[in-house]
Amino acid sequence: MTVHSTALRANPWLTRTARIEDVIGEISGVCTYRLTVSDKNGGASYGFAPGQFNMLYLPGVGESAISMSGDPARTDSWIHTVRVAGNVTKTLAGLGRGDTLGLRGPFGTGWPHEELIGNDIVIVAGGLGMAPLRPLIYQLMSQRDKFNRIWLICGARSFDGLLYVREYNTWRKGGIDVQLTVDRATDGWAGHVGVVTLLIDRLQLPRPEQTYLVACGPEVMMKYAAASGIRLGIAEKRIWVSLERNMRCAAGLCGHCQLGPEFICKDGPVLRYDRIRKYLFVEQL
Ligand SMILES: Cc1cc2nc3c(=O)[nH]c(=O)nc-3n(C[C@H](O)[C@H](O)[C@H](O)COP(=O)(O)OP(=O)(O)OC[C@H]3O[C@@H](n4cnc5c(N)ncnc54)[C@H](O)[C@@H]3O)c2cc1C
Repeated sequence: MTVHSTALRANPWLTRTARIEDVIGEISGVCTYRLTVSDKNGGASYGFAPGQFNMLYLPGVGESAISMSGDPARTDSWIHTVRVAGNVTKTLAGLGRGDTLGLRGPFGTGWPHEELIGNDIVIVAGGLGMAPLRPLIYQLMSQRDKFNRIWLICGARSFDGLLYVREYNTWRKGGIDVQLTVDRATDGWAGHVGVVTLLIDRLQLPRPEQTYLVACGPEVMMKYAAASGIRLGIAEKRIWVSLERNMRCAAGLCGHCQLGPEFICKDGPVLRYDRIRKYLFVEQL
């Protein structure tokens, strides 16, 4: 089941004023923001499905799609982890506690939570791809007995590129087999070196036919992660990826984020692999 946003059904153009409550420095060039919105009627709802995103608007600069990266059970704010990339994110990096920005959302589809129940799950995160997967991890941990084995395979260029390292022990204690790898070993790193697919390839899946693979990261990583999953016996229809395309309206109208017949903003960003595989292999699409 895919989760469609209530914002799309209501008014996708409604930009609310969001206040920055906290800023946490994560890794170089990446910060996590806690945002609250004030609605005219006084109440604000922070519901979202893990995998969904908001559009953050910096007046006079522009708007960017940014995934939810916090706990979906949290009802007091939205959490976003943002890497400085260009104008919008650079301007955001110059803001601090108490500053305001515009916000539309939530938009898009979520990870297939209901389908995952009763299954084994391989979560694959590359770099900042960890951000939209963290809400899923919180959700799975809060209902841990509903799922069987859970692996988190997490990769980054080097150790200082791994996101949310402070939480890995909690996740491990919560029953998630966290496995890390880096492309380049730096001083003090005694763990695995190599791409995430190497770790996927050596998994001993007890029941591949009842295993899901969910992935977010660079597109090339997701293609190879899917191929590794398929080699291990995971069906394509049990593989889900979160895709990123430059987007503008977030409401399926402008066409900026179109991939084949899919609008990543409303049919995605989380899509079943068999639905989009053939478009991922067409260059420049
Ligand atoms: C569904 C979705 C979720 C996202 N979640 C996050 C998140 O949680 N954290 C985060 O830091 N970033 C996230 N991004 C990426 C983020 O939207 C872009 O990095 C951001 O728009 C850059 O805005 P900017 O104005 O700072 O840079 P710009 O000046 O707009 O862009 C800088 C460069 O990046 C390119 N670019 C911009 N957006 C994209 C894109 N989406 N895909 C490929 N190239 C792009 C531009 O063409 C340009 O070359 C997400 C994108 C999508 C589509």
